[in-house]
Amino acid sequence: MAEIEHHLTEPLLAAYAAGNLPQAYELVVAAHVSLCVECRARLGAHENAGGAVLETLPGAALSAGLRDRVMAALDAPPPAAAAVPRRSGIFPAPVMAALKGQPPRWKTLGGGVRQQILQADAEGSARLLYIPPGVAVPDHGHGGLELTLVLQGAFSDKTGGFGTGDVEIAGPELEHQPVADIGPPCICLAATDAPLRFHALIPRLLQPFFRI
Ligand SMILES: [Zn+2]
Repeated sequence: MAEIEHHLTEPLLAAYAAGNLPQAYELVVAAHVSLCVECRARLGAHENAGGAVLETLPGAALSAGLRDRVMAALDAPPPAAAAVPRRSGIFPAPVMAALKGQPPRWKTLGGGVRQQILQADAEGSARLLYIPPGVAVPDHGHGGLELTLVLQGAFSDKTGGFGTGDVEIAGPELEHQPVADIGPPCICLAATDAPLRFHALIPRLLQPFFRI
């Protein structure tokens, strides 16, 4: 994997360490941390600072299983090369857990774009996206924070380029239309809030885009 250039922010790492993130975001953070030595170290600092608080937060019960598995992995002796990702194929361990160890069951969205929803609740949703090279991902109207982790290939939007392992953090002010780079299909893990807005756009509002 090329060197990761786009990392998690301190507030995201702190919220993750405290167990305060919605599950969809938590999955993206866990997946990036499992791939990224730098963020793993930064998370460790938050864990040390906030470990006592973690025990008392009600939010920690939301997905303690996932976090426990990640923490267990982080506590394990580091491999000989610290940069060796813990993953199965292109999917980091937290994604494999969300897939229950099975290959993705892609659902076609049109234009060659496919998705599999991994997790959805009132706070947000997480999905895998498969974007053929050169194809644009429609702006799906996230109302708040969107986290996108590249698992294979790369994409670009007006903020820059994102390669494998990079995470894009987009707020509602960003009207972006990522385009998959030429090369292998771009496979991303994306988490958004406002899932109803996303669903309302499919298929009606996506249709003009997919005629391209
Ligand atoms: Zn990182």
